This record gives sequence, structure tokens and C-alpha cells, in this order.
Amino acid sequence: MNSNVLKTKHGEIQLPAFMPDATYGSIRSTSFKDAYDSGVREIVTTTLHIEQKIGSEYIKKIGGINKFFNWERPILTDSGGWQVFSLINSEKGNKKNKISEIGCSFVDPDTGEFSLLTPESSIQIQANLSPDIMTVLDNPIIGKSSLAKRKESVRINTIWAKRAKTKFKEIYQSKEEKPLLGSVIQGGDDFVLRKQSAEELVEIDFDLFNFGGIPLNEGTSWKNFVDKGNFYREMLHFVSELIPENKIKYAMGVGQPDDIAFCYEHGWNLFDTVLPTRNARHGYLYVNKGVGDKSKGYISDKTNKDYFYDIMHLRTERYKFDDKPVDENCNCECCSTVSRAYLRHLIRINEPAGYRLTTIHNLRFYSNWMEELRKG
Ligand SMILES: [Zn+2]
Repeated sequence: MNSNVLKTKHGEIQLPAFMPDATYGSIRSTSFKDAYDSGVREIVTTTLHIEQKIGSEYIKKIGGINKFFNWERPILTDSGGWQVFSLINSEKGNKKNKISEIGCSFVDPDTGEFSLLTPESSIQIQANLSPDIMTVLDNPIIGKSSLAKRKESVRINTIWAKRAKTKFKEIYQSKEEKPLLGSVIQGGDDFVLRKQSAEELVEIDFDLFNFGGIPLNEGTSWKNFVDKGNFYREMLHFVSELIPENKIKYAMGVGQPDDIAFCYEHGWNLFDTVLPTRNARHGYLYVNKGVGDKSKGYISDKTNKDYFYDIMHLRTERYKFDDKPVDENCNCECCSTVSRAYLRHLIRINEPAGYRLTTIHNLRFYSNWMEELRKG
């Protein structure tokens, strides 16, 4: 298989790797130490949120994002493209919000302030944060839009990638140590445009090639992804083949454990998703096969190996008197210290201590899942 390592200034990333999202600089409901103890060795953080809520100049003065977080392992920063896209397409979005060849201009719904995010400013903000892996500003497109609009989106995406790389070179040309740089293949549901986007970005050359635009971060669109699961799998397989083998292939926003297994088998080796942490707060736990309420999974079309696991809906009546741990085969802090009945109670009263424990468990499940994939 394609198991190997990715070298960064904060150590090697064992591939395939899953990175939880530290949105706003925090893996919600838990600490970086809890995450590390759960097997997490690399994280993603969101550039635009950090810029808006903390300020990248401030982080620079403090000595960089790793120092600020007190996290000595690799950090990947996104470009801010997805956050702006979500903002522009959300109900809170201001009518003045606009994407053009120049960049994304938008009004912050919390402060009312007008901002312009360009390929250059996105790179500069990330350089201030000083992560291990940076991402060029991308221009996602999802859902139904006209062919002309989709074509324009890919055209702008490539122009931005070129400009971002020029800015990256300008900042790092005289520096010995530089971060890795990733670009994002867009094109929505259109195979022809995905191919065009991949080819144009490969031509510019980057360390990582990311698959962008899967609407996993939007509650309503998530259902859309599930319904279209096979379609996206086909698309991910198609795009993976367009990326040179010596490059890192990062499936952004993927996903459920079985989606990760599928993508890994088809060449992708880096993943991030809010699913384990977000679902943990809803009492939706990932457990070993035969332990939970509902079986989910995937049988490999290459090796016939089965990648099945269970989902446990902890809020249900079924666990009211259940004194067993969430998963007897798991050695995380949650499974070592509390019963399903007590944890159910904590989740039902929205107790942060409960969210912390369920998050620790789900992160451990994902870490174990990646370990299994690495073993092959
Ligand atoms: Zn556990």
C-alpha cells in the first residue's frame, strides 16, 4: 500500500493520518493534551477564524501557532477559502459579499467589518502563524450552478493558486526552513472540470494536492453527501489518479471511517473532519463492530477486507441502566472510567465533562482506525 511518512518541521506524520479540526484554535470540548493522549499527532486549524478572533500578527509576536497552542506536533492551516464560501452562501451572508479574480470580499457577520481575503493575504496570514503545512486560497463550488459559473470558479481557483505560490516564494526564498504548501483541486461535481483543475495545479507544482469542496461542514449538505456517497467515492478515485504518486493526497473533510478506508485504498493519505468531535457532543459514538446500535462500513473492492464499525446513540433509552463502558475493547479515559448510563446522563444534561469524555473516545476510535489502516 501507499503507507509512508510526511516530514515536517515538527516531526514526521505517519500516513495515512487523520487530523481533527481545531476550529478557532480549539478542538472543541477537549484539550490538546487530551487529544494527544487519544492518539492524535497532527491537527488542522482554521486561518480565517484565527485571524478574525485572535489576529495572526498577535500570534507572530507570541512566537507562532505551535507555541501559542503549546502543541509540539505538526499543524496544517487551511486557506480561509471554505469559511468565506460558507459565509457567502449562508443565511447570515451579507449581500455585499463577493468573489472575484482579486479575492473574496466579505462582511464579518459578528463585527460588521469589511474584509478582503486575497491569495497573497491568505499566505501572509498563514506565514504569520508559521504552521508546518499551508494551503493556497481556493474557490470551492458545490451544488447546482451553471456550467459557465463552474468554469469561472475553476479559472479563478488556478489563478489564485499561482499568485499564492508566488507570494509563498517571495516570503520563503531566503529562508532555510519553509512549510509545505498545498493546493486545492476544485470543480464541484464535474469530472471534466476536476481534471482541468488537477492538471493546472500539478503544472504549477505543490507538495500536497487536496480534494476540495465536499460539503461536510454544512449540516444540511451532509445529508447530500451521504445520499451521493458512491458518486463522491467515484470522483475521489478519479481525481486521485490525476495526482503524481510522489505527492501527498489530502481528502479535505473526509469523513466517516469507511469513507476514509475507501479513500486510502484509492490513494488518499491525509484526512480531516469535524465528525468525531461534533458527533461526540451529540452522544453519537464510533465503536467496534457488534458493540453499538447500528452497523456501518465498507467491503474493500480491492482486498475484500471488511471495514465495519458500529454507531452508538448514547442518548437512547437502551443505555439508561447500562453499567458497561462505551466499548470494552477501548482503553481511552472515557471507557476506563465511566459507564454508558452515567455518560448518557451527562450528555442529556449537556454537561461539558460528558462532551469531553465522548470526544476523547471518538478521537481514540479514529486514531485506532488509522493505525489499522497503516498496518494494512
Ligand atoms: Zn473509548
